[in-house]
Amino acid sequence: MFAQWFAAKAAHPDALLFFRMGDFYELFFEDAEAAAPVLDIALTTRGEHAGRPVPMCGVPAANAEPYLARLIRRGFRVAIVEQTETPEEAKARGHRGPLPRAVVRVVTPGTVTEESLLEPGRSAWIAAASPPGEDGLLGLAWADVSTGAFACRSLPARDLAGALAALEPAELLVAEEQASEAALAPWKDRLVALPASRFRPGPAERRLAEAYGVATLEGFGSFTPAELAAAGAIIDYVRSTQAGRLPLLSPLRRETAGTTMAIDVATRRSLGLTPGEGSLLEVIDRTVTAAGARLLAARIAAPSTLSAVITARHDAAGFFLADPGTRDDVRAALRRAPDMARALGRIGLGRGGARDLAAIRDGLDAARAVQAILAAATLPRPTLLARAEAALDPAPPLAERLRRALVPNPPLKATEGEAIAPGYDDALDAARALRDDSRRVVAGLEAAYRAATGIGALRVRHTAQLGYFAEVPEAAGLRLREADPPPIPGLAHRQTMAGTMRFVTTELAELDSRIAAAGAEAEAREAALLAALAEAVRGEAGGIADAAEALAAIDVAAATAALAEAQGWSRPEITADRAFVVEEGRHPVVEAALAAAGGSFVANGVDLSPGGRLWLITGPNMAGKSTFLRQNALIAILAQAGLFVPARSARIGIVDRLFSRVGASDDLARGRSTFMVEMVETAAILNQATPASLVILDEIGRGTATWDGLAIAWAVLEALHDRLRCRALFATHFHELTALAPRLPELRLAQFGAREWRGEVVFLHAIRPGAADRSWGIAVARLAGLPREVTARAAQVLAALEERARGLTPLAEELPLFAAAPRAPPPPALTPVLAALEAADPDSLSPREAHALLVRLKAML
Ligand code: ADP
Repeated sequence: MFAQWFAAKAAHPDALLFFRMGDFYELFFEDAEAAAPVLDIALTTRGEHAGRPVPMCGVPAANAEPYLARLIRRGFRVAIVEQTETPEEAKARGHRGPLPRAVVRVVTPGTVTEESLLEPGRSAWIAAASPPGEDGLLGLAWADVSTGAFACRSLPARDLAGALAALEPAELLVAEEQASEAALAPWKDRLVALPASRFRPGPAERRLAEAYGVATLEGFGSFTPAELAAAGAIIDYVRSTQAGRLPLLSPLRRETAGTTMAIDVATRRSLGLTPGEGSLLEVIDRTVTAAGARLLAARIAAPSTLSAVITARHDAAGFFLADPGTRDDVRAALRRAPDMARALGRIGLGRGGARDLAAIRDGLDAARAVQAILAAATLPRPTLLARAEAALDPAPPLAERLRRALVPNPPLKATEGEAIAPGYDDALDAARALRDDSRRVVAGLEAAYRAATGIGALRVRHTAQLGYFAEVPEAAGLRLREADPPPIPGLAHRQTMAGTMRFVTTELAELDSRIAAAGAEAEAREAALLAALAEAVRGEAGGIADAAEALAAIDVAAATAALAEAQGWSRPEITADRAFVVEEGRHPVVEAALAAAGGSFVANGVDLSPGGRLWLITGPNMAGKSTFLRQNALIAILAQAGLFVPARSARIGIVDRLFSRVGASDDLARGRSTFMVEMVETAAILNQATPASLVILDEIGRGTATWDGLAIAWAVLEALHDRLRCRALFATHFHELTALAPRLPELRLAQFGAREWRGEVVFLHAIRPGAADRSWGIAVARLAGLPREVTARAAQVLAALEERARGLTPLAEELPLFAAAPRAPPPPALTPVLAALEAADPDSLSPREAHALLVRLKAML
């Protein structure tokens, strides 16, 4: 047996082996030591190997899923080693020794299909990135084994990190040589390094054609060699984890470059685009199906840049906004729709149960109901909905057959009850009748036996070991055993338990074998019928997958309308120019948080139309600058994802790339200083932004000494204005930059103000033209209780600094390209108190440290 184990381990060295032994999956050696603490199960030993006891732990095979789930979530891979013959089969062919076993499947994070291992509202992507082709572009392919979605695209290496962040693959396949690339570092735990030979385009194309059962892929479109290599690597890998089986993959779809908004990793992070707590999705997701939630997440992760696509989505949402009655009916019908795509995925892999078939049945029923509701609507359906509507009843005969064949709520496992409805199959009905009649006869025997023996406490019972038997109290049993002749034919004592005795009879033995045979026949018949239904479903897989997709699209459209209505959002106008005009815009997440706390959000507009493409925004801390910046980035994303936007109106010229550098993101874990991170991210923007991009920059240069920081911020602002010519929002605490306004015709100054009211600073959160008054910091410090002499001195220093800043105004004219670094004038002499104050960074102080600082400052006076 250990020889079998070692052979399986040698074939799957990176996986834990779930080694089937009877009713358990056992883990041995280092696998047991690794898994036991994770699974919180006892580590024992079994037998010896090389003179040492073998560590072992096990989980029940009938209930292995939760254990698998835990291991997969912790990043393990698990190879399932099954017995491939029953003991009877082995005996029949004269086999001796351990039962034959084989790896039937490798469970990996990217190839799971079980409901308990998947999150309903999130796609489970497995992705592959190929080495660059001759054109220098990488191929990226991604598939969802649980639903069969499959797509690929080409991209330059620098866009890989952003594309991966959009997908968040559960597993990422790369060639060994690439595995150490920096872009892949965040995915280190999900990386699977394969030999480069797995990424050869030629064999990959053949594998793909074979997987689809076609001679050539031409019918699917044209693909670059790098794309084929990536897609082929996925096919190869998935097949190897499924012991040769392949999921039902939808035709490989090629995503053309530039059809989605490019959003890099830092931007996604700063805008809360990745699903989870406090994310955009959490606030805007009003879908009622898991497939709808997945589609919405995909659209937010990759907003479109095609105005036809975006407009079609807006039209569909508009229909549901205009007809709330139809919307409510459709959503009610959708709520009853199970996850057809994932049920189909399991059925495709031969892993589907009766419940998955029922999910297809109920999904098709819901789809038909939705179709009827839409057909009855008085308003004409826009294209997207009309097309979805047409896909909703893909296989009426199959739907009808499933309806007749299955009971309403089939059990999860065959052992837990019957799945096929009575009246569907004569042979099954006959076998069940035989079994049930015999059971009735058995039940009738109890009364007859009581009468024959005179023992009122006699009961007829059943165990797997004895079959049917009569059980009587021990005292009565002793008498019964001695009775001669026996009161019942063939009565024989079999077992004595505590206080009871068990007897069999000829009749019971006969009935028992008849029931067992009929039961086995019924089970086999049911299994065959379910297999035939699964085959029929596979035969209609394409249509069912389309119907599932159509339902998801309808769900998202209706959810978009529901959200817009509930929150007062409006339909953005999408234009081909460089407009970005928002009236009374809001930040959906901040607004929701404020509303929850009883506050209200102050709406703010923006206009980045040509002539004022670049806004330079000043204002004290906490005034609302970052919120405003992010809100406009989110409005661009929502609009192009096909949603409505939190604004009174919005006109948006399509954004090709979105960059948002807001707040000093802490990347110390990767061993980079805040300033380094900031500069890397800024470099990415300056190297990649186009005139169609939207750039959001907050507090550039904050992470370094004042003069460096100002110099960098200045140069970046000039580059945005003169070279990149993109739309941009630039928030800064360098008031000196406002001096650039007269020189940069596209630059507009905007500010967030504050007001002092009854001894408190009140932030207005309203944006207005002009540059902010920089003395607010001192006002806040005074209100915070800083000693009056300190704030008075600070005001003096500020005046001196402002004097110096005025000196920068001529600098702005002298330095069109900021060629020479400005020589910093000597700073005014500071008292020790002020020096200490300047050295302090209020943002990084805890209240306790702030208190200590105050005590120290006071001591210095
Ligand atoms: P800044 O970037 O200027 O330091 P933030 O944008 O971080 O300021 O905003 C600080 C806080 O003010 C936010 O957490 C939010 O609670 C509140 N706030 C910001 N903008 C608004 C607004 N438009 N309406 C109401 N409250 C706002």
